[in-house]
Amino acid sequence: MTSRESPRPIAVIGAGFSGTMSAIQLLARLEPQRRVLLCERAGTFGRGRAYATGNPDHLLNVRAANMSAFPDQPEHFSDWLAQSTFDGDEASGIRVTPGGTFAARGLYGRYLTDLLTRAVTGGDGPPRLDLVNDAVTDLEPAPGGFTLRTEGGASYPIAGAVLAMGNLGAPGAPRSRHQADPWAPESFGRLHPDRTVLIVGTGLTMVDAVAALRRHGFPGRIVALSRRGLLPSAHAPVQPWPMPDLTGVNTVSALAARIRREIERAGAAGLGWRGVIDALRPVTDTVWRDLPASEQARFLRHLRPFWDIHRHRAAPPAAEAIADEIARGTLVVRAGRIRSITDTAAEAIVTLRPRGAAEDEPLAVQCILDATGIGRVAETDDALIRRLMERGLVRPGPFGIGLDASADLAARGSVQAGPLWVVGPLLRGVLWECTAVPDIRNQAAGLAGAVARTLSVPG
Ligand SMILES: Cc1cc2nc3c(=O)[nH]c(=O)nc-3n(C[C@H](O)[C@H](O)[C@H](O)COP(=O)(O)OP(=O)(O)OC[C@H]3O[C@@H](n4cnc5c(N)ncnc54)[C@H](O)[C@@H]3O)c2cc1C
Repeated sequence: MTSRESPRPIAVIGAGFSGTMSAIQLLARLEPQRRVLLCERAGTFGRGRAYATGNPDHLLNVRAANMSAFPDQPEHFSDWLAQSTFDGDEASGIRVTPGGTFAARGLYGRYLTDLLTRAVTGGDGPPRLDLVNDAVTDLEPAPGGFTLRTEGGASYPIAGAVLAMGNLGAPGAPRSRHQADPWAPESFGRLHPDRTVLIVGTGLTMVDAVAALRRHGFPGRIVALSRRGLLPSAHAPVQPWPMPDLTGVNTVSALAARIRREIERAGAAGLGWRGVIDALRPVTDTVWRDLPASEQARFLRHLRPFWDIHRHRAAPPAAEAIADEIARGTLVVRAGRIRSITDTAAEAIVTLRPRGAAEDEPLAVQCILDATGIGRVAETDDALIRRLMERGLVRPGPFGIGLDASADLAARGSVQAGPLWVVGPLLRGVLWECTAVPDIRNQAAGLAGAVARTLSVPG
């Protein structure tokens, strides 16, 4: 670069919450001449998968008070809610409950879109954020960084990139021609009211999928299936509890015993378990990183489902809707696993083995929604991740979950090329808590600092 040239931009790939907030934080931290390219393959920027929904029953599963996009401005989202005007469906998307105020996810999407619009127009200074509405297909190492290539045939010289492509989904999930996308109600097709719909998974995505099916007009029977059939807990008023001292705890059984003891202490003080679980949040990543690999594997096998249902809780109105469905028999929650699926023209015959049973059981369903968890990177069909793995620029994270990264979120691969960072749910194997807004907003702020430091060092 000569003194008259602008420095190469930094690219952020993916414009969901992770990419949007990384871009906004980068604009605040990088030198004023450095532009940021925010690349998104979907039609809208800012909302990503979680906040694009227009269904007012799709509520945030974190209280509005804890959904600020900025770690140093905790009231930012609550203030935005208080200062904005809403009408129609939007107005019904704010629910005040004894457990806190919960907003519809679509409203949160509008909040993010507002933040992005302000960033694109440049705030007080000249605009430095460029939106590229195209799928990124490759990052080719080049002098001074990479050449970023897109599906539409464009190429951009960039100094480095941030991978913010969200969760990779679960390619190990059952395949059937009757399978539909829980996030795309248009894929549900015409559902017969007297035939069953199967949701694979019983976590928060299942809660959303039930709401989506009902809003789609399906009144019939839904079966939700997971290995243990555990449902997410609901939010309730929480009394703060001091962070437990976990020094020296380096096995899963010691960890479980320690948490149980702490919950008993809270109970003896007349308080519930929620404060104890919430108190662990600041140390969860450290605890995860400090566990030996064999213990991390034990956690994934035995403790994770229990951790998830206590840690990732449903908004009270959403949990009540599920309880009501179960009481009426319109939602049946089963514990077991799928052994096989045979498609016929009109339905899928799912052979399942109920938990603890010695024999299989057939279940005829008209539609299957995959609401299972995280996908394995090695099995992904994501074109960009596959390309970057072929180039040796990235590699799977621990247990094949997400991408490997250093403590300052720099991607780890077998080849040393231009600077590349990872943010959001793709860090799931490295950082345990990396999928919710309160975690990602910290990552985005920290990452912007790391990028600024790296790019300020003459190459
Ligand atoms: C349904 C749902 C509800 C949730 N609710 C909450 C909640 O209430 N509170 C909370 O704290 N967290 C919630 N979460 C957690 C959520 O993971 C984070 O809040 C956050 O939305 C993750 O955003 P992301 O940008 O990492 O991923 P995504 O939202 O998936 O965004 C990734 C983006 O990258 C784009 N992309 C991917 N590959 C490419 C490519 N090659 N080129 C260009 N673009 C690409 C995709 O199109 C997508 O828009 C929820 C998650 C889901 C799925």
